[in-house]
Amino acid sequence: MARYTGPSCKICRRNRVKLFLKGDRCHTAKCAIEKRNFPPGPKAIIPRKLSEYGRRLREKQKLRFHYGVSEKQIRGYFSRALRQKGVTGYNLLGLFESRLDNVVFRTKLAASRAEARQSVRHGHFLLNGKKANIPSILVRAGDVLQVAVSDAVWAAKFEKTKEKGLPAWLSFGSMPGQIQVLQLPAREEIDAPVEEQLIVEFYSR
Ligand code: SF4
Repeated sequence: MARYTGPSCKICRRNRVKLFLKGDRCHTAKCAIEKRNFPPGPKAIIPRKLSEYGRRLREKQKLRFHYGVSEKQIRGYFSRALRQKGVTGYNLLGLFESRLDNVVFRTKLAASRAEARQSVRHGHFLLNGKKANIPSILVRAGDVLQVAVSDAVWAAKFEKTKEKGLPAWLSFGSMPGQIQVLQLPAREEIDAPVEEQLIVEFYSR
């Protein structure tokens, strides 16, 4: 199944949780969850209590939409997380967090992951000195992201990022426009609104 391109707010309303898919709007009173916190569709339909399978499926869907990936990609990440040492749920979240588009979003250079993905595709970043225009590239501790600060728009964005600050697992590099990945985030630094154990159970069934 390809990546979802329909109305973002319906996804949040269906899952009854903010997935922060629309950038700044998500933090305002215009957010659809603030205004209409009930599932989309005719109001008369009373949502049924979810089965165990339904709960697991919902968590998986939340994760998928939060990071904007396809079903095929999420299955690939799960297989990879299983092969890694440690807790599979955390490994899975770590893989999503280390995607290049997510790192760009975390630097606050983009208001949403969708915007970050588009910026990466348009080639505005270098990773370790090489052009990086694939949003799913996985970054590692020690990698250096370079923003094209020779462009006035990106220079202004980078200045704003400096004012806002970076998460503890990222830091500014020695050169203008550089951001270094110090380490991957700990679980408490990952704000994905999911119970990852249920996702592991979903794929392990
Ligand atoms: Fe829409 Fe963002 Fe609110 Fe979700 S969190 S309902 S995407 S405005």
